[in-house]
This record gives sequence, structure tokens and C-alpha cells, in this order.
Amino acid sequence: MSLVWFVFAGWLSGNAQDLFDKDYIHTSKGTLEITFIGHASLMFFIDDYIIYFDPTHNLADYKNLPKANMILITHHHSDHCDPIAISELRKEDTKIITTKKGHERLNKGMIVHNDQTLNLDGFLIEVVPAYNIVHKKRNGELYHPKGEGNGYVITIGDKRIYIAGDTENVPEMKKLKYIDIAFLPMNEPYTMTPEMVADGIRGFKPKIVYPYHHSGTNVKKLVELLGTGNETELRLRRMY
Ligand code: ZN
Ligand code: ZN
Repeated sequence: MSLVWFVFAGWLSGNAQDLFDKDYIHTSKGTLEITFIGHASLMFFIDDYIIYFDPTHNLADYKNLPKANMILITHHHSDHCDPIAISELRKEDTKIITTKKGHERLNKGMIVHNDQTLNLDGFLIEVVPAYNIVHKKRNGELYHPKGEGNGYVITIGDKRIYIAGDTENVPEMKKLKYIDIAFLPMNEPYTMTPEMVADGIRGFKPKIVYPYHHSGTNVKKLVELLGTGNETELRLRRMY
């Protein structure tokens, strides 16, 4: 092995996480490290516990990332639910939370439904419906019919974090309370327009919003729509 290759291999295996943007959030359980893997895929690290949301293998080499204690899947579409990424992240006792159709694709995991609440390894997880009202395919079917997809509100210490999944600004979103951080999808035609995201934000007033799943959408439009002087801090990261 040449020295160059040795150094390169060490960089890849040792610091694979450093390839991604990260934010640090203070919670009463310690510092939450959020890794922005891309699109709808996130990693949370809190108190030696690793949670992944919607990992897909085209976004990262998961073999070089830490194994999961918990994996939450919002729905069965291939940009959210990927058997390869899950097999790379799983260890014997990894908890996998998914939908009915996600379970059909993965053949593993615990199925959770809209409006369910569960407590897992000390994390309260509330399941919020994720669906379209407006955006339909050419054949008239909604991209995400109600009941198939989950958003998750996970409580970490004193912080409540909403991972919306593929959804529009549905009434269940706008009724949410005390959300510190929200990940909201924004890409037409599958999820929300910037106008829909702005309307959702005005409804439930999260403290911090990360638009995610925003491939091809003009994120600056959301900045304009929200303007200044509102209660929500918008944070833009590489989540296309
Ligand atoms: Zn989808
Ligand atoms: Zn999607």
C-alpha cells in the first residue's frame, strides 16, 4: 500500500462523517449533533445513541458511518426506504420503525401508524400523518395518499423535533405545538411549494426550520415569502 493510498483510506474510514454539514443543538439530554446526509436522510447523535432517518445508499457510504441504534423510515418510496442502506447500518439490536408499505419493501421493522405514540429507548415518538391534498399524478392519484406515510415528532430531552416526511401543509402539521426544529420537504410536484411551506410555518410556528428534500426548488423563494420579523429561524443546508 502506498503512503498516499494509506492516508486516503484512513481519511475515508476515519472521517467519513466529516464529508457532511453538521449542526449542534443544545438539549437537556446533552448536545444533539445533526448530520445532513442529503435529500431526506439525516443522522442524529445524542448521548452515544445514533438515529438515522430515511437512509438511502446513493447519498453516503454507510459502511463508513456509525451503526444505527434506531432507524426511522417515513414511507416506502425508494428515496426514503432502502434495504441496502439499512443492511449496512443495522446491528443486532437496531430498532427499525416503518410504515406498512415500508415493511413490505424491507421485510423487517416495527410498523407504526398515523397518530400513534410510542416510547422507545427513552425517546417519545409521535407519528404525524404525511400526505398530499393537492399534488396528484397524471392518473389522478395523489403522490402520497393519506394513511400511507408518517412524519415523526421525536422528543430529545427538552427539544421536540419534527421530521415531516413527504407531505403538504396538512391540518395535522399546522396544529402541531411546541416544535423546536422542523424538517419540511419542498419539491414540486411531490411535496410542497415554497408557498405551502411558508403557510405551514405560519400555522405551527416552529423555532427553527430546515427545508429538506428540496431538489430543484428555489429555496430563496421561501426566504422571500417568510420575510423578516417572523418567529421562525430558517436554516438552509445541502438537503437536495
Ligand atoms: Zn414519497
Ligand atoms: Zn421523497
